[in-house]
Amino acid sequence: MRFFAPYIGGSVAGKPAICDRYSMKDQESQKLYEEALQYMPGGVNSPVRAFRQVNRNPLFIEKGKGSRIYDADGNEFIDYVGSYGPLILGHAREEVVEAVREAAACGLTFGAPTRREIRLTELIQECVPSMEMVRLVNSGTEAVMSALRLARGYTGRKKIIKFTGCYHGHSDGLLAKAGSGLLTQALPDSLGVPKAFTKHTLLADYNDTESVKELFHKYKGEIAAVIVEPVAANMGVVLPEENFLSFLRKITDDNGSLLVFDEVITGFRLALGGAQEYFQVKPDLTTLGKIVGGGMPIGAYGGRREIMEKIAPLGPVYQAGTLSGNPLSTAAGIKTLELLKSSQGLYEELAAKGELLRSRIQTAGKGRIKVNSIGSLLCIYFTEGEIRDYNSALTAGVKDYAIFFEYLLENGIYAAPSQFEAMFLSGAHTAEDVEYTAQTIEKYFGSI
Ligand code: PLP
Repeated sequence: MRFFAPYIGGSVAGKPAICDRYSMKDQESQKLYEEALQYMPGGVNSPVRAFRQVNRNPLFIEKGKGSRIYDADGNEFIDYVGSYGPLILGHAREEVVEAVREAAACGLTFGAPTRREIRLTELIQECVPSMEMVRLVNSGTEAVMSALRLARGYTGRKKIIKFTGCYHGHSDGLLAKAGSGLLTQALPDSLGVPKAFTKHTLLADYNDTESVKELFHKYKGEIAAVIVEPVAANMGVVLPEENFLSFLRKITDDNGSLLVFDEVITGFRLALGGAQEYFQVKPDLTTLGKIVGGGMPIGAYGGRREIMEKIAPLGPVYQAGTLSGNPLSTAAGIKTLELLKSSQGLYEELAAKGELLRSRIQTAGKGRIKVNSIGSLLCIYFTEGEIRDYNSALTAGVKDYAIFFEYLLENGIYAAPSQFEAMFLSGAHTAEDVEYTAQTIEKYFGSI
């Protein structure tokens, strides 16, 4: 049973077939999907995995190695999702898997402090020096939720400014014009979040300094923090314009508010020190997730010592977690960060591959697409205008993307099943992978 008619190749609006591999088998994935639907809402445990925006049913993945993933029907793909960010070293990197195996053999969780927590927080602090103290949690959502509670507790103020189209996890107060999953589903907000819970969340426009100034003017002395994705990677990939981040630094300083960088995606991805190193802007608090756990569930927040000292047990801001800093996540995180630290030239290499893809794809799709990229993050928008904020991102053609997505799948390339998610490059993507991807996409734009 298919719930959405899939695009099955052949001719597109009367034009010749764009590829000759419309033979991808997905019977086993379909069978699994039908089974999954009986037990899980939409057959998935996170909405974007349901592939709804691309009008097909999801593929079930069996395994991954390096840049490749393999689905239940045995199809092999070059993977540009990378589990939405954590896998900067590729799938099943041996040293990381071995570290997890070793940790697992000694016990999965203790509810007591361990050496690995010290090592991981030490590594985080070395890479991101603004995080003078760190608290480990279990997801990016938890990191952001806790960091904002801390910002409110520290400043004694209630209001938070967030940017339209930025996603900071699914905690109640932040489900106001969040990105990707919500954009994908065109839900302006989520049912089940009382208005009172978002009452103190103020919305500004990304890259629009005036909208921020207006809020600071209107709510003088009430704003605890501004939270921002320093590169917005949940409405595709939107780069901060020159001085946008330093403007946020200054206006928060001038008003006694905190600046929170949500680096759940950009942390250890744009540079070892994240976006704050890349753009040389230092926030008061930083939230991390994804790469910091090397593929295991984790989150972290941290910042200036005097702020972090407000957290329990030192201070009155309560935050806790049974599995926080657990041996498996910390083992994977430590090994990943150690490998990143010792990989000479990795970030330059990733940026060169990203730029190669950007320029080749942009040239091939001239007039039809806009490709935004930075470092190892990339997004192909099916619109020709500049994408600099939420409204311009929304001009992208979701239907065009769905057709393109199916073409990529049929040609062995796995991109995100949503126009508004980034493509993620990893150190495991070879020059051949990138060349194949560029050529495949050039072929697409050359033939439609
Ligand atoms: N912040 C950002 C910038 C994210 O991209 C995400 C997830 O994609 C989150 C927070 C939430 O992280 P998690 O899904 O681990 O809860």
